[in-house]
Amino acid sequence: MGYKNKLLTEKQYTILYLKMLDASCKNNKREWDKLLAMNSVTLVCYCPKNTFCHRHLLAKYLADKFSNQVELIGEV
Ligand SMILES: [Zn+2]
Repeated sequence: MGYKNKLLTEKQYTILYLKMLDASCKNNKREWDKLLAMNSVTLVCYCPKNTFCHRHLLAKYLADKFSNQVELIGEV
C-alpha cells in the first residue's frame, strides 16, 4: 500500500489501513465474525519484531473495536 517503498509515512499508511479495515468489516461481516469466534488467533508477518507493521495495526484494531471479544496477549 505504499509504505514499504516510502510513498506513504507511517501515519498516512495507518489512516488508510484503518479505513480499509473498517470497509472490510462492513463488506465481509461473515468472515470477521468467523475470526472473532475463534478461541485463539496468531497474526504473522515477515517484518522483524518491534518494527512498524500492519500486523500490529490489525491487532490493536481488533482489540479496540471488539474489546469485549478480543484480548491481546502479546508477541510470540
Ligand atoms: Zn509486517
